[in-house]
Amino acid sequence: MADFKIPKATAKRLPLYYRYLNFLHNAGKEKVSSTVLSEAVKVDSATIRRDFSYFGALGKRGYGYDVDSLLAFFAKTLNQDHLTNVALIGVGNLGHALLNYNFRQTNSVRISAAFDVNPDITGTIQSGVPIYPMDELETQLKDQQIDIVILTVPTQAAQDITDRLTKAGVHGILNFTPLRISVPDTVRVQNVDLVNELQTLIYFIDHYSNRPKEEAKQ
Ligand code: NAD
Repeated sequence: MADFKIPKATAKRLPLYYRYLNFLHNAGKEKVSSTVLSEAVKVDSATIRRDFSYFGALGKRGYGYDVDSLLAFFAKTLNQDHLTNVALIGVGNLGHALLNYNFRQTNSVRISAAFDVNPDITGTIQSGVPIYPMDELETQLKDQQIDIVILTVPTQAAQDITDRLTKAGVHGILNFTPLRISVPDTVRVQNVDLVNELQTLIYFIDHYSNRPKEEAKQ
């Protein structure tokens, strides 16, 4: 990220903007209005204008925003112009799916190493990614200069591994396990919980959708 502070909610929307601007760029579009952007990314245009205002005067009223300069700006802000290697720990059902996907849509992040305790898969290459045994964790992270880790292990293993990661100097953990892992201030954790996301979706549909009341109750 760039070295200025932006609100967390704004930061979360940046990848959304970035993906759509990339799409416009590939389609040969030079300008985009906040209204068009708003419809595409489903964020209201006042919020978009406020978000963009954190980065200085990037748009001119009535002319819309310049796609290429916005894109260059976001690429820099999101560090899309350099590749970040991340590691994955726990190559089971979920881990396999993530390895297989491996963030193909972006050129800026990729899983370059994976770790597991299962001797049937350690020493193999899955979806192009080498699977190392856990006793190589610290060495590999250091050698490959990896400081972001995706955690897809069983809950009971999550905290011990987190402690090892903290000691190894990892700065970020994308935690898929249901455990709310404890970390020092130097480590940032992002929890991913599909059940939570689904329940939020259901709540919003039940409370805020425009569906007729009868249908919404069913
Ligand atoms: P899984 O049992 O298929 O895979 C777990 C993998 O971790 C296995 O390959 C196992 O060998 C490995 N492992 C076990 N102990 C280990 C250790 N100490 N060090 C390294 N590797 C170890 O499980 P899964 O279905 O892939 O789920 C993985 C985790 O993700 C679970 O905690 C599950 O609750 C969670 N999960 C979260 C979501 C979500 O929405 N966040 C969705 C599905 C699963």
